[in-house]
Amino acid sequence: MKPEYDYLIVGSGLYGATFAWCATRAGKRCLVVERRRHTGGNLRCENVEDIVVHRYGAHIFHTSDREVWDTVNSIVPFRSFINSPLARYGDELYNLPFNMNTFCRMWGCTSPAEAQAILNSQREAETARQIAAGHAEPTNLEEQALRLVGRDIYEKLIKGYTEKQWGRPCAELPAFIIRRLPVRLTFDNNYFDDTYQGIPEGGYNRLIDRMLEGSEVWTGCDYACHRGELRPKASAVVYTGAIDEYLGYCHGRLDYRSVRFESEILPVANWQGNAVVNYTAADIPFTRIIEHKHFTMRGDEVHRTPVTVISREYPSEWEDGAERCYPVNDLRNTTLYDRYAAMAVQEHGVIFGGRLAEFRYYDMDDVVAKAIKDFCHAAK
Ligand code: UDP
Repeated sequence: MKPEYDYLIVGSGLYGATFAWCATRAGKRCLVVERRRHTGGNLRCENVEDIVVHRYGAHIFHTSDREVWDTVNSIVPFRSFINSPLARYGDELYNLPFNMNTFCRMWGCTSPAEAQAILNSQREAETARQIAAGHAEPTNLEEQALRLVGRDIYEKLIKGYTEKQWGRPCAELPAFIIRRLPVRLTFDNNYFDDTYQGIPEGGYNRLIDRMLEGSEVWTGCDYACHRGELRPKASAVVYTGAIDEYLGYCHGRLDYRSVRFESEILPVANWQGNAVVNYTAADIPFTRIIEHKHFTMRGDEVHRTPVTVISREYPSEWEDGAERCYPVNDLRNTTLYDRYAAMAVQEHGVIFGGRLAEFRYYDMDDVVAKAIKDFCHAAK
């Protein structure tokens, strides 16, 4: 007998929801099971005091892929938002990403030529030191950062923040993480280099809800506990949870970072004047403070509510019971993941997708693109 559903989608985060959206549009029947009491994974928003709160940290959608941008905008309207975070080190405030505003504040220079000269001299000194140590190319995040922006910026704006976020020395982290950040000799505080950037009007729940329309959705349903009953319900499984968990941790556990959010309602309309302020010093236990209203309210709009909601982010190593946020793509984990991935290809009728199942530090646009691609491939 043909199973009731074409796809059993495990996890209702962005990958699962995008896959469900593609499948239902193609006339397929989907059952989406979600361990948490809500859909949307770490994109989940909630309304507090008329302010959209990103419950699991700030999510800003950015892409240079016109097709992906048009796709998500065809589902819900997006409001443009340019992410321009600040970095706070002691009482000093710097603009991010690393640009002329950062360099002027750091070195007191006033022109790109001056900034370039200081950057070059610091970069060259670091590069020479690394080459003398036998590293022709940067082998870790510390070496990569020093070659990108030099010692001053590394010490004040990168080292403390990165080691808090990842819980490991910068010298033990992969170089690619820091290459996410642009370095520019213009006065441009736009964090992302992408062409399109925004947040769904009213928050991400609307996007996820629309993507899941037409699917059967069971929240509070843990696939790991009900695999035997759930698996026969569909012809194929789309698994978006942690790959090591799916495979019974048979080779040991992959490391993920988690984040604890401490939120507060404050009796002021505007507390920090910006959506994101990173705290880059090692002696401050949190990595950043988000003031949520700035994602949606501009200028005088912030006075629409007399209060504000802020969240401090405390990263920690992932443990059972917490939510996984970031895969730790260091050497040990990458090797371990490769072993799990080799086992996963033997799982016929199961598609593994998204940040946890592919153990990749994905941005949202890449997740959407990948889910669409995987569906097209599966539907062939
Ligand atoms: N980073 C940093 N200082 C900052 C912001 C970012 O050193 O003030 C580094 C850090 O290593 C971090 C990486 O840049 O892991 C990527 O930052 P991104 O903002 O992309 O992280 P996400 O938004 O995914 O948490």
